[in-house]
Amino acid sequence: MGCCFVLVDENREAVLLDTGLVGEPRFIRRLVARLGLEPRAIKAILLTHGHLDHAGNVAWAKAWTGAPVHAHPLEQAHLNGAYPYTGINRWCGRLERAGRRVFGVGAPVGIDVALADGQELPFWGGLRVVHLPGHTLGHCGFYSDRHDLLFSGDLFASYFFNVHLPPPILNSAPHLIPASLEKARRLNPRLIVPQHYDLLDGGLHRRRFDGLLHKLAERARRRGRVVI
Ligand SMILES: [Zn+2]
Ligand SMILES: [Zn+2]
Repeated sequence: MGCCFVLVDENREAVLLDTGLVGEPRFIRRLVARLGLEPRAIKAILLTHGHLDHAGNVAWAKAWTGAPVHAHPLEQAHLNGAYPYTGINRWCGRLERAGRRVFGVGAPVGIDVALADGQELPFWGGLRVVHLPGHTLGHCGFYSDRHDLLFSGDLFASYFFNVHLPPPILNSAPHLIPASLEKARRLNPRLIVPQHYDLLDGGLHRRRFDGLLHKLAERARRRGRVVI
C-alpha cells in the first residue's frame, strides 16, 4: 500500500514524488534498479503533504538518496508526527499514531527546501508548485508545463465507480477545499494524476475530476433549492 512516483528526465536525473507507506522502500529500490539508476540519481524528494501514507518513508528515502526533502513549511508538524489535529480530524492523528506504532514508519524529518505556491522547480523538465490547501494546510500539487500534467496529491481520489474528495476525518481545513478545486480547474491541465488512483491514465483522471466537480456543483445547487 502506498502512493509515490519516480520521475526520470532525459538526463537520467530523477525525483521521488512522495514516499509511500508499508513495503514502498523495497518497491522504490527495485524500480530505481530496473531503470538502471543509482540512488544518488534522485536529486530531490518532493512531498505533496505530510500524511503518513505519503511521507512515512521520507527518513529512509533521505538517507538512501542523500536528496533534500522539498515540502510546504506548513507540513513540518506532520513530518514531526506532532500536528495538532482538532475535531473530527483527530481520527487522522489516531490512525497515524497507530500506523507509526504498527509499521515502524514516520520517523521525524526536517524539510530542507520550503516550497511556496508558484515556485518553479528544475526537475523533470520543470515542475511548478501549486498550493492546494484543505486536505492539509500545506498540501501541494506539482504541475508539469511540458506534459500539461498536474500531480494533484490528495485533492481527490480516483477509482472506478468511486471518485471522491478525501473523507472528512482526513481533512484539516475543509473550508479551503472548494477554492483549491477551483484553482485546479482553472489551471486546466490536460492530464491529472492523483496519488490515490486505480489506473495510471492522466486523461481518465482529468475526465473524472470534471465529473466530480459537476457532481459537487449539482449537490450544492440541490442543497440551495432545499434551503429556499
Ligand atoms: Zn492525505
Ligand atoms: Zn493519501
